[in-house]
Amino acid sequence: MSKYIIVSNRLPVKIEKLHNQWKFSSTSGGLATGLKTVHENGKSLWIGWAGISGEAIEKDDYSVLSQQLIKENYKPIALTQKEIDDFYLGLSNKCIWPLFHYFKQYVEFDEQQWESYVAVNQKFANAILEEVESGDKIWIHDYQLLLVPDMVKSIKKDVTIGFFLHIPFPSFEIFRIFPKRDELLQGMLGADLIGFHTYDYQRHFLSSVKRHLHLPVSFNVVKKADREIVVDTFPMGIDFQKFEQTAIKQSETAQKDFTPFRAELERHKASNDGKIILSIDRLDYTKGVIHRIKSFEYFIEQYPEYKEKVRLVMVTVPSRSNVSHYKKLKRETDEIIGRVNGKLATVNWTPIWYYYRSFDFNDLIDLYSLTDIMMVTPLRDGMNLVAKEYLATCFDHKGVLILSELAGAVKELHQSITVNPFDLKQQAKSIHEAINMPIEEQIDRNTELRERIKRYDVTFWSHSFLERLNELPKVFKLNKTLPIDAVIQQSIVSAYQSASKRLFLLDYDGTLVRFHKMRNKALPTEEVLQLIDQLSSDPSNHVVIISGRPMSFLNSIFSKKNITLVAEHGHFVKNKNNDKWIDKNPSSNEWMHYIYPVLQQFTDNTPGTLIEEKKKSLVWHYRKTDPELGLKKSEELKTVLSSMITSEITIMNGDKVIEIIPSWVNKGSAAIELYSNDSYDFIFVAGDDLTDEDMFLKLPLDVFSIKVGHKQTSAKYSVNGYRELLSVLNKLNQ
Ligand code: UDP
Repeated sequence: MSKYIIVSNRLPVKIEKLHNQWKFSSTSGGLATGLKTVHENGKSLWIGWAGISGEAIEKDDYSVLSQQLIKENYKPIALTQKEIDDFYLGLSNKCIWPLFHYFKQYVEFDEQQWESYVAVNQKFANAILEEVESGDKIWIHDYQLLLVPDMVKSIKKDVTIGFFLHIPFPSFEIFRIFPKRDELLQGMLGADLIGFHTYDYQRHFLSSVKRHLHLPVSFNVVKKADREIVVDTFPMGIDFQKFEQTAIKQSETAQKDFTPFRAELERHKASNDGKIILSIDRLDYTKGVIHRIKSFEYFIEQYPEYKEKVRLVMVTVPSRSNVSHYKKLKRETDEIIGRVNGKLATVNWTPIWYYYRSFDFNDLIDLYSLTDIMMVTPLRDGMNLVAKEYLATCFDHKGVLILSELAGAVKELHQSITVNPFDLKQQAKSIHEAINMPIEEQIDRNTELRERIKRYDVTFWSHSFLERLNELPKVFKLNKTLPIDAVIQQSIVSAYQSASKRLFLLDYDGTLVRFHKMRNKALPTEEVLQLIDQLSSDPSNHVVIISGRPMSFLNSIFSKKNITLVAEHGHFVKNKNNDKWIDKNPSSNEWMHYIYPVLQQFTDNTPGTLIEEKKKSLVWHYRKTDPELGLKKSEELKTVLSSMITSEITIMNGDKVIEIIPSWVNKGSAAIELYSNDSYDFIFVAGDDLTDEDMFLKLPLDVFSIKVGHKQTSAKYSVNGYRELLSVLNKLNQ
């Protein structure tokens, strides 16, 4: 039976040395909770670093610990102190972390640390490869392991790999700074499913894939030569029930049983109708700690009536404290809190209570529950779970969440007060708004917010990712297009040899010739011309070039050949042995007068694009413009055009072109007419573009339909490119 393999930098375990022996216990962080049902019933293996350096434990001792961990289906990866310094604290946290959070001024790229990153990723990949069996599903997590998917896939093809990034994926302009950007993208694309918290991160990733790797992307699917990769959004949730239930339980605690911490919080609330503003984060420069303190200071100065009534409780959990930027941030935070408290404090009141430590779960719940306003104002955050945890504890629906526009969570939590964390005045105003928000409004907002995070909890998150991962093989099996191999080639040759009347419907650009940036330079090679001569010299063969090109272009190349030419996607046909072009749709072209100015406007605003005017259609070409801009503008253009046209006109999506053309005629209708004119017993149809799909769909099922390239298709067979198609055709001639 196939199994799941979960891979994260850290195993969800806590290791301690008690009485000279290593002991471990499972932890209940977000990921561990989300995967509990998968991991607990023994169907999965979890691979990761146990959190202690190889040198920190004696060898024998470690093997005992390893055995214990393996019994619980955890496979520990041993990391040396040097690897922890270079791979984890170095490349992962001094380079990828700041870059992906848009702190490019903090990025320190070091070649040796990169080598360590590659080596440790390989160590993880090797550990997976030791355990994995055909049909297994692997789920790899986060920015420390970006290279692992490809390291596994390149060795073991028959497993399904998912990858989830827990931090933002930055915009192309930021990502491109990373010296090994292509390696990171290739590494991630080893996965079959790639997940992000928000659609923006997904969009940024796809944009980098298009622009750096030049791979085709159709909607959310990246097409590689041999496989397709689905990229999607899965916003991570929390264990809603656990937070809500604990908050309810602790609200029933009798006063005499309060912890000293809770008693202190309650005293503050009781005095002067005191309000608590809370913030909880790891002490990380991405979290906006300094900006938040400054905005609180500004708030007190602007609204002095809240002196002695409002208190900012800041919990900052120590994090990566041996990295220099974190040390500096700690110093700055200490200083600014000292300065603000020194400046504003009164005999009875310290405006900021500052804790530089972590709290245990029950204290956290007390904090969340007694808080009036929760400030979650990171300068950039992949998701931010604290915001969701706070809402889950508001079981009476009271309380206000102030949330940064730059946290991933904001995409789901619209009903919070959203702020730009860099705008201190706006943040200060939002505190004022929060303090004065009527209870009914708080209840209205929180009811909707809580409904969402209750439904989309962490189990929903992990299950929807795994469900999607499980569906992938089925999805790709549905696509029955088979690459032409030696056996299929032989069956085509046999059918050809035993047939007496044969029809060849061949598209031109991308099918017989390579695409060329300069359209008029896409000319056939000598090999193609000879091939067409040979095929058409057999009186049993009827060769048709069926193209979107205008008559003049096809004439200029093929007029001397004994073949049929179809121009402008079926609008004009010139039968073999005949010099006359037949107009298949002699209707008025008046519509062009309305559409042309729109295309002109888009062309003026999009450098590198151009309009091609054919007899029956107008074409907007965007191949030569910046790919991202071209795609964006083409979407805009389609929206504008669809509001203008009637059903008599169609907008056709080609390869980097949009063609506006009368609906009555297309390559499909032209192919059917040619096919019906005679009784053919061998039909060979090949094309690379969306417009060729009309032929594949309309012709009978027993034809040999061949897609050139890897785009989605209804064709029965596929080849990698035009050269391979030529080789298939050449074999018929032998
Ligand atoms: N947290 C904790 N103890 C504390 C403070 C915070 O366990 O004293 C937890 C908090 O409950 C949350 C996590 O740390 O689950 C922080 O997650 P978040 O997504 O907000 O930020 P990250 O640290 O992952 O950047």
